[in-house]
Order: sequence, then C-alpha cells, then structure tokens
Amino acid sequence: MQTHRYDVIIVGAGGAGMRAAIESSGRARTAVLTKLYPTRSHTGAAQGGMCAALANVEDDNWEWHTFDTVKGGDYLVDQDAAEIMCREAIDAVYDLERMGLPFNRTPEGRIDQRRFGGHTRNHGEAAVRRACYAADRTGHMILQTLYQNCVKQGVEFFNEFYVLDIMLTDDPENPGEQICTGAVAYELATGEIHVFHAKAVIFATGGAGKVFKTTSNAHTLTGDGMGVVFRKGLPLEDMEFYQFHPTGLAGLGILLTEGARGEGAILRNESGERFMERYAPTIKDLAPRDIVARSMVLEVLEGRGGGPHKDYVYLDCTHLGAEVLETKLPDITEFARTYLGVDPVTEPVPVFPTAHYAMGGIPTTVNGEVLRDTDHVVRGLYAAGECACVSVHGSNRLGTNSLLDINVFGKRSGIAAAEYSKTVDFQPDAELPADTVISMVENLRNATGGERVADLRIALQATMDANSAVYRTEETLKQALTDVQLLKERYSNVSVQDKGQRFNTDLLEGIELGFLLELAEVMVVSALNRKESRGGHAREDYPSRDDTNYMRHTMAYKEGSELISDIRLGWKPVVQTRYQPMERKY
Ligand SMILES: Cc1cc2nc3c(=O)[nH]c(=O)nc-3n(C[C@H](O)[C@H](O)[C@H](O)COP(=O)(O)OP(=O)(O)OC[C@H]3O[C@@H](n4cnc5c(N)ncnc54)[C@H](O)[C@@H]3O)c2cc1C
Repeated sequence: MQTHRYDVIIVGAGGAGMRAAIESSGRARTAVLTKLYPTRSHTGAAQGGMCAALANVEDDNWEWHTFDTVKGGDYLVDQDAAEIMCREAIDAVYDLERMGLPFNRTPEGRIDQRRFGGHTRNHGEAAVRRACYAADRTGHMILQTLYQNCVKQGVEFFNEFYVLDIMLTDDPENPGEQICTGAVAYELATGEIHVFHAKAVIFATGGAGKVFKTTSNAHTLTGDGMGVVFRKGLPLEDMEFYQFHPTGLAGLGILLTEGARGEGAILRNESGERFMERYAPTIKDLAPRDIVARSMVLEVLEGRGGGPHKDYVYLDCTHLGAEVLETKLPDITEFARTYLGVDPVTEPVPVFPTAHYAMGGIPTTVNGEVLRDTDHVVRGLYAAGECACVSVHGSNRLGTNSLLDINVFGKRSGIAAAEYSKTVDFQPDAELPADTVISMVENLRNATGGERVADLRIALQATMDANSAVYRTEETLKQALTDVQLLKERYSNVSVQDKGQRFNTDLLEGIELGFLLELAEVMVVSALNRKESRGGHAREDYPSRDDTNYMRHTMAYKEGSELISDIRLGWKPVVQTRYQPMERKY
C-alpha cells in the first residue's frame, strides 16, 4: 500500500474534473485521480454544443436562458443555482475561447451559435440560437482544450487509478459531524492500493448510464462516485429523473445530436407526418427532450412507428443538404452510415429514445460542497458535473446545459476546495483507512461463487430498459425493484475469472456492477415514491404534475452498510426565486 498527501484531490478527469483542476492547481497542491486516461472521458463524446446567451447571432440574454432552464426542468430546478449558471455561462465560454478552443465562427469571426431544444427567445416566443459549438465535436474540443491547459499548468495526474472509497473522520470543529480526509484508490496497472490524504476531495466522476441497455453512454459510466458517496450514508438527490435523449440510432442507442434538429432536421412517423407539430405547436422538434421522447414513444405505441416492427420513428435530414451535414454534423452523418447503413444525405434515419443523462446525483451547494442532509455540508467533500446535483437541471436537463454545468460548477468547486484547503490542517490518519477497499477487492478476487458479472449486468439492463424507461407505472417499477433486489442477492455470489494483479479489468467490472446495482435500486425506489409525472419521470398511472405534493427534491439515504440494505427517503425544498410554476406549453 502506498500513501500520498495533497491539499486537494480531484476524482475524475472529464470536463468537470479538469476545469476544477485548472483553478485548484494554481492555488493549492492538487492531484487528479482518474480511472480513464483523461482524454478518454465521456465529455469527449459530447457533440452538439454548450450554451451561453452571447447574443452573437441574434438577440438573447442570460435571464431568458435562466427562464428556459427552469421551465425545461419542469420547475424542479433550484432557481438560485440556475441564475448563477446562466449568468456565468458567458465567461465560461470566453474562458474556453482564451484557452484555445476552436469554436465554429460566424462570417464576422465571432463564435457561431445554433438552436437547441427548449432554448427560446423572450420566454418561449420562438427558438433562439444559443448553443456555441465546434461542428458536432464540441465535447471533444472542450476535453482536449482543458487537458492541454492542465498539462501546461503542471497538474499532476494519476491515470487509471480507480477511487473506491473516501475517508471520513469526526470533525474536530463540529462535534457529531464528519469531515473528509482523503480517498482510497486501486491502481489498475499494478493492483496496488493507494491512500491519498487530502484536505479536500472533489468528485467529478460523471454519469451512470450503464444501468440501462440502450444508452448513449460509454461503458465506463457506472456511477462509481455516486455509489461511493451513497455507501457512506450520504444522500443522493432526485435519482428518479433520468433523461432519455430522443434521437438514439434505433436498436443501438448511439447518439445523434439534437444539434441536427437545431440545424433544421425533422422527426417524422411512418406516414411521413411531422408529428411534433401536434405535441409542441410553437417550437415543434425543438421542444425539450422529455416532451420529444414521450411523443416519440406515443407515436410507436399508437401504431405510427416505422420499420418491420413499427418500433421507431425517423430523423429526416435530407433537406439540409450534403454541405451542412458534412461540415456542421460530420460525425453523426458517419455514425448513421457506419452503424445502420443509412445515408442521412438521402434517407431518413431510424431513431428512438436512448438513456442519456442523470439529472440527479450527489447533492451540493452552488460551490460544490456536498450535503449530508437538507441543510448541512460535509466539510472537505465536493462534487461537480454529471455525478452532482446542484440542482440546475431539475427533472429534465436542456441540451447544452451539461457542458455548461461542468464548466461553471467545475470552476466554482475547484476554487472553493482550494480556498477551503488553506483554512484547515491535515487530520490525523483514520484507523486502517484502506480496509474497506482491500476487502472489497480481495473478496471479489478470491470469490468462488457461480454467478457471472456479465450475466447479472445483462439482466439488470434488461429490466431497467423494460420497466424503468420513458414511461413507468407502479407495476413496472415494482417489477424492476424485485428484479434488482434479486440481482443484488445473486451479486453476493459473483466471482471473476481473472485472479491476477495487473490490469485486472475483470475485477473492476465486477466492482462497477456493484455500484450499478446500488444506483438502479435508488432510481427505482425514488421513482416509485414520486406519484406524479414531471420531466424525465413519466408515470402512466399518474399522468399529471402534482405541485401540491411533489414540488420537492427526493433525497435517498442508505441505511445499514451491507449490499442488501434499506433505502430511506427524505425531501428537500425547491428554491424558487423568480418564476412560479406554470403549465408547460411549447
Ligand atoms: C454521446 C453524448 C453526447 C453528449 N452531448 C452533449 C452536448 O452536446 N452538450 C451537453 O451539454 N452535454 C452533452 N452530453 C452530456 C455531457 O457530455 C456530460 O454530462 C458531461 O460531459 C459529463 O462530464 P463530467 O466531467 O461530469 O464526466 P465525464 O466526462 O464522464 O468524466 C468522468 C471522469 O470520472 C472518472 N471516473 C469515474 N469513476 C471513477 C473512479 N471510480 N475513480 C477515478 N475516476 C473515475 C473517469 O475516468 C472520467 O475521467 C453528452 C453526453 C453523451 C454521452
């Protein structure tokens, strides 16, 4: 076992982690621990754009952006946080421009902007051009730009280090409370365990899309950070709200950016009808994702889907012309050709919703401080990016608001953690800080049970796709819960084939599955208890939004320390500053 000591450690080297590192490393001794090589993080897969009311191509302002974010999130958004995000968006884009990000440009040389779902002019009058972009590789450019700037600044990276636990001890200044003193990691190359003592730890571990089978998410998005925090008895917020992106390649889930509709592409059913005109008469195909995904599923359920099984609809880009497709949407054009053998230049592309984004996560303040309940923070522990819940996305994130979130709240948490680290001393060693991780790793390595990781993962993803996707009911959610709990029992009998020390990815997949099972249970339990439809959570048995009973965030806590445990639910009020909940029409 090796030990290290830093003022701040950041877990995760996606957009959120590296944006935090750029701030923190200039102020305090900082290390970034990441299970992937930094430029392989999922931020690099983001396609469409990052929004900010720059008003470069038409009239716009950050107040309209705030309103759209609140309405887009079906009014479950904390409005103070949304205001901060939309106001600071403008600097966030210029920060990236100064760091060297090659944005698409207008003929006058300004950063170009395009339309995206739910972003409107003057409180819903019409779609507005607010998304800054670099072709359909915006996330790739953000990730590369941030990485280069981290390297320039001498940020220390520990690549292929899996953080599997954090260290919490009694807070000397606040009796009865805990303080975070570091994290414990498993080094993939050697199988060694490393203890990182730190004054502050920032989690930026990304999403958990691998709970589902049909997903736009990378294989690595297994919700580890949320899982680690949850196992410590800390809450997860709003986990019932999972976003299904409307345009996944049918049957595969690979993403076609909403930027395609931003450039003018149209959704059609089997008869060629532009069906979004019926569901969202004003902004049609550019309605927020929850509304478009529900509409697509309804078209299929009512028999208007296309293909041999009538189980998808079409994204029609044919009128955009080869030049727009090749220059502004080159990657997705290629994806459709490669994976479905369909050429978007001449044919409509079969699409269906794909699991995409976790609106919920580790609850934080606007400076990234992690909450241990509705009103108290855990000193020294921070979270930012998709693993966190600020909450700026409420029950449904608007497209392009996540690349924005990771930049704004990545930066804020990096500053906050570094400044905090200057005010405290290192705490004495916790007793046997690595014990939990050593037993987690060794128990799995030495296990001889008959269950296989892959079998359990397939079964988990199948039940989540079938029972906890765009539409759910009491009955389907109960089925999902029974299945997940059974899988958790089977998981205690799982074994891995590779018993070695070096590059044992088999072992890590087994550990990741444990986090996925844990999170799936939280998602389903939270969903069962929200008897209304709002944003990404559409209940067939409770089709309306119920502000009287459910205008509040869900907080889920793990009771007991074993894998098989109870989940206790609590609530947190929604912060409403300017906008009263209204009926959501587009
Ligand atoms: C295909 C696709 C397209 C998208 N397009 C857009 C878009 O156009 N606009 C938009 O706003 N949003 C988009 N999104 C969403 C957005 O890209 C993500 O929400 C955002 O990039 C997440 O950034 P992050 O830094 O939080 O996490 P990630 O970029 O996922 O990074 C997570 C990091 O955590 C590390 N990590 C994870 N677990 C551990 C562990 N146990 N120990 C150590 N390290 C760990 C990983 O190594 C990685 O470095 C898209 C998402 C997808 C999947």
